[in-house]
Amino acid sequence: MSAVASDGAPRPGEIEEFERVAAERVAGVRDLGTLEAAVPELTGRRSPIAGWKRSLGGLAPEQRREVGRVLNDALVRIETLVEQRREVLARADREARLAADRLDLTEVPPAPGSGHLHLVTQVREELEDIFVGMGYEIADGPEAETEWYNFTALNVPRDHPARSMQDSFYLATGDHESFLLRTQTSPGQIRLLERGELPLYAVVPGRVYRRDTADARHLPVFHQIEGIVVDRGVTFGDLAGTIETFVREIFGEGVATRLRPAYFPFTEPSAEFEITCTICGGSGCKTCSQTGWIELGGCGMIHPAVFEATGVDPEIWTGFAFGFGIDRIAMMRHEIGDLRSFIENDVRFLTQF
Ligand SMILES: [Zn+2]
Repeated sequence: MSAVASDGAPRPGEIEEFERVAAERVAGVRDLGTLEAAVPELTGRRSPIAGWKRSLGGLAPEQRREVGRVLNDALVRIETLVEQRREVLARADREARLAADRLDLTEVPPAPGSGHLHLVTQVREELEDIFVGMGYEIADGPEAETEWYNFTALNVPRDHPARSMQDSFYLATGDHESFLLRTQTSPGQIRLLERGELPLYAVVPGRVYRRDTADARHLPVFHQIEGIVVDRGVTFGDLAGTIETFVREIFGEGVATRLRPAYFPFTEPSAEFEITCTICGGSGCKTCSQTGWIELGGCGMIHPAVFEATGVDPEIWTGFAFGFGIDRIAMMRHEIGDLRSFIENDVRFLTQF
C-alpha cells in the first residue's frame, strides 16, 4: 500500500468526469484518422483508466475489486462509443469515395474541339455549289501537266514569257514533251474538249503553281476555278450574263460587273471581268486604286485554235471560258489583307471563318 499507488487511484467522481469528457470527444471527431489517433488516450495505454488500473495494486482487496469493476465498466462504455463512432465515420468515408468515383452516365462532356474546313476550301465548295446549281459539272485535272496541255493546246506561243523557267515549275524537260506543275486550271478545258462530249458546261477548280515569292498578294501555290461552256450558238452575251449571275451569287445583289478588253492566247475576243470594289462599294479607295472596281478574272470566247487542237468543229460549236482565283474571292469577301494568312496555320486567323 505505497503512497505512490494510493496517489494514482481515482478520486471520487473522477472516472465519471473522464467518461463524460471522452464521450464528448468521440462525438466531436469528424474523420477516422482523428478518431484512431485519439484511441490511445481514450481507452489505450495513455488513457487515465490505464493509469488508474495500475494503481489498483495499492488498494485493499474489496476496494480493488469495486474500483476495478467501475473502471472496466467505464472502459467498455467508452470502447463501445469509439466503435460506434468508427462505424459511422467509416460508412461516411465509403459513401464519399463512392460518390467521387461514380461514373455519371447522364453527364454530357464537352465535345473535343473539332476543326473545320479551311476558308479557301469553304469558298471553293460554295463556288462548286453555285455552278452545279447553274447546271455545270465539276471536273478535275492533274496538277502535273505536260507543256502541251498547259500551254501549246491553249494556243500559248512557243516563245511566250509564261513558259519560261522563271514563271513555271518544270519537273522534267524532254525532246518532245516537258512536264510542269500546272500554272493555271485552263488545261482542264483541253482535257474536257478532248473528251468530245458536247455540249459542255463544266468548271475545273484546283491548285495551280507559279514561281512567285510569297508576299501579301502572291503565293507560289494558289487556287483557281476554270469555267468552260461549249454549245451551239453560244455568244459573248451569254458569257457576260453567266459572269453577272455567279458574281451576284457570290457577293450579293449590290455588286455590279463589267468587262474590259484584254488579251489571252486561248480566247478571242478576250476580257478581264471586274466587280464593284467590295471594300468601298464603288466610291473609290486604296484597295481599288480609287477606281471603284476590282479585277476578278479573265474570260473570252474560246479561240478557234483551241477547238482545232482538240478536234472540235468550230463551224458547229462555239463556247466561252473564264477563270479566276479562289483565294482572291475569299480575300475580297472577308477583307483579308495578306494572302500569306491562308498558309500560316495560325488558328487565331483560321477559326474566324
Ligand atoms: Zn474600293
